[in-house]
Amino acid sequence: MVSLVPLATTPMGVVMGQLCQRVGVALEGLAPWIDHTFPQDDERAFVASLHDLELLVRAGWHAEPPESFDERDVLNVEDVPEDVLEALHEAPVELVACAICRRLCVRDDFLWNDRRLCAWDYHATVFGRRGPWRHEPYVEHHLATLPAPRYLTPALLHELGVVVVASMSRQLEESVRFDLMNRMIAADPGGEYLGVRTESGLTLLREGTVAVDSEATIETAAL
Ligand SMILES: [Zn+2]
Repeated sequence: MVSLVPLATTPMGVVMGQLCQRVGVALEGLAPWIDHTFPQDDERAFVASLHDLELLVRAGWHAEPPESFDERDVLNVEDVPEDVLEALHEAPVELVACAICRRLCVRDDFLWNDRRLCAWDYHATVFGRRGPWRHEPYVEHHLATLPAPRYLTPALLHELGVVVVASMSRQLEESVRFDLMNRMIAADPGGEYLGVRTESGLTLLREGTVAVDSEATIETAAL
């Protein structure tokens, strides 16, 4: 029995999934199964040498997957990149397949119209040209429908030409945040804006028709 530990790549790093998938593999079929499951041209597959695995099989080695992993649990730690090793130290999270690209992503980090998306597809869908941009201040009942990703990724916004106009922290009263956001939208009738709720508060984005000063934008966005 082989246990597979799922890993997802996110803009914040690699994360480990909660569920181990158990796969029955006959000992004599182990090498072909490894070749098939982790193709040699897959840059994100890090398989220990067949020689080491055969030694373990011959010795009748068996172990249940540990509650939490660390580097001592990895046979070929020298082949595994730093970001994956770091993921082993973090608490596992629930992973699902992105509704668009099917890559694994963290379950509820990026939810849009009841679809669970990876960070990349969420940014492209919600903050791309067809996103819910508006050129008028929000009215009260819109506020509940604002996009609410777990976090924004400055590099992905930058690729889309989207500018972070303001980040208003939770230290401000909610009504003050919304009022500020609406004032900024009202002050620029030609601009397309999008308010986003995040864990840190409320962020106002502007569609990128203005020249993007890359360094300054990224710094502002990282606040
Ligand atoms: Zn995706």
